[in-house]
Amino acid sequence: MSFVRDDDPPVAVSVALAIAITCGGAIACLTGCAPTVVRRSLQIPHFESGYEPTAGDEMGSAYLQLHDRLTQWGIAIHEQPLRQFGLADLRRGVILIREGLPINARFEVLAHEAAHLFQPPALEDSSTAQVFAELVAVEIAKFYGHDGYVDISARYLAMHKHAFASVKYLERDVAYAVKVLTGQRPLPRRVP
Ligand SMILES: [Zn+2]
Repeated sequence: MSFVRDDDPPVAVSVALAIAITCGGAIACLTGCAPTVVRRSLQIPHFESGYEPTAGDEMGSAYLQLHDRLTQWGIAIHEQPLRQFGLADLRRGVILIREGLPINARFEVLAHEAAHLFQPPALEDSSTAQVFAELVAVEIAKFYGHDGYVDISARYLAMHKHAFASVKYLERDVAYAVKVLTGQRPLPRRVP
């Protein structure tokens, strides 16, 4: 089984989150010019970290676009009762989303879980994997105009900030995943 298990609520959880990380240099910049979301997350004590799903349905269209793109790639997406907000089964190409979430939160979770499909396999279920997925999700959210979530994203990332440094060599992988998932690059032939 190769499920990527996101932290259980309410302490933590999967998910995407909007905000502006300038992907090209986001992670490499950590020591000097860190983007807003990373800088903010560094200010948040782990004890106050966590993910709170965003209410509302403004991201309905973006959710459908992302959902369609993944389906087109052969990824199955199911909503079902889950303790976690989301799970990505990297081996079977299946994404599970907790049922009953508001559309905006579904978009956030889907973006984050979709990003896990692009993580280097060696990351498995680690904080580095969560940071990788979140940095991708943040860019996807930004692409679709899902702005205003810097603080939420920062609170999520604060759970895994100890892993920021270990993601710095994955800058290209983050950018690649963002481009594929937003349709700026063709879908790879290989399905994860
Ligand atoms: Zn995750």
